[in-house]
Amino acid sequence: MDRPPLGPAEIVVDLAAIRANARLLRATAGVPLIAVVKADGYGHGMVESARAAQAGGAAWLATATVGEALALRAAGVSGPLLCWIRGNGDGPDSDLAAAVEAGVDVSVYSDEDLDAVAAAVHGRSEASEPARIQIKVDTGLSRGGAPRAAWDDLFAWARQGEKAGLWRVTGIWSHFACADEPDHPANHRQEQAFRDALALAGEHGLRPELRHLANSAAALLRPSSRFDAVRCGIALYGLDPAPGQATDIGLVPAMTVRAPLLMVKELAPGDAVSYGHRWVAEQPTTVGLVPVGYGDGIPRHATRPGAPDAAATVAIDGKRRPIRGTVCMDQVVVDLGGDRPPLGSEVVVFGPPGAGGPTAQDWAEACGTINYEIVTRIGGRMTRRHVDSEAER
Ligand SMILES: *Cc1c(COP(=O)(O)O)cnc(C)c1O
Repeated sequence: MDRPPLGPAEIVVDLAAIRANARLLRATAGVPLIAVVKADGYGHGMVESARAAQAGGAAWLATATVGEALALRAAGVSGPLLCWIRGNGDGPDSDLAAAVEAGVDVSVYSDEDLDAVAAAVHGRSEASEPARIQIKVDTGLSRGGAPRAAWDDLFAWARQGEKAGLWRVTGIWSHFACADEPDHPANHRQEQAFRDALALAGEHGLRPELRHLANSAAALLRPSSRFDAVRCGIALYGLDPAPGQATDIGLVPAMTVRAPLLMVKELAPGDAVSYGHRWVAEQPTTVGLVPVGYGDGIPRHATRPGAPDAAATVAIDGKRRPIRGTVCMDQVVVDLGGDRPPLGSEVVVFGPPGAGGPTAQDWAEACGTINYEIVTRIGGRMTRRHVDSEAER
């Protein structure tokens, strides 16, 4: 029997969307954009996303780990680049010396971090540029960064090292806890604490060129927090950092996840679907098999027993098809409601609103999580393909 060849299950990333989002964020914030490409560009591909962001006018790039920053450099990505975590897959002490050599701005949280940078600088040739460091202050997230009680000593030593030619303090920065809730009182408190830190740093003689606080949500919702630059991740990829808060500036989701329809079968009333028989057909229907599962980053929370109306959906020919029964490691079953689309039909798992299917935000709501987690965890065995919808026109 002749059958159309099945396309692969794949992640398609439109680099034109990332470029356009970078341009929009730069224009909306009115200050330089630091494009955050950590965690493989939130699942979109770190190197490709970095280049697209730069093409869209991002002045800076940022990663979480030293290892990610070095991988960008190894791929030939140049330009200002900040990283903020040591010791995650980079060995116990991270390769700070390599980061310094590669002109990466490394974040320091503590005296111990300054010790480590001093050790990394030690033994470099006299002609080398000083290391570039950015001091991260904790203004209330209680995660990384120097707590307020440590600011005075840290700034004093940072200034001393600067005078001694070990490093240059290029930036001071902090991170919000509740930027997606613009009315949360913590936002004002954190911004005030950040201003206190900047004033104290100034008293110590530090003159950092890049003072930054705002992530995507704050960049869009809190103009007073923009300072010298905004640090945007999720908005760069076109997803809403603060659903329900009127942040719509025309960002376009860059990622589409698609898979082929593998099989269609009929179910009679009482037929139960997938592990645990957690969904039972009440009437005759047809179901389709789609070859992606939690091994590919499809959340198992996409369906929950007793809540069939809350199930995540996919789209086939623009029609929404709910997932039925437990999400498996390698596949899911979707309800086709009696229809029999041809085998090999394109199943849109999620994508931009214009693609006729659900969005990553729809998936996040169905699964009780945030759009960040949906796109960042997607992958597994799926192939990822980068396209450029502008170049193809
Ligand atoms: C991930 C991250 C960002 C980017 O946050 P978005 O909400 O994705 O814009 C900015 N700053 C820090 C410190 C981060 O960890």
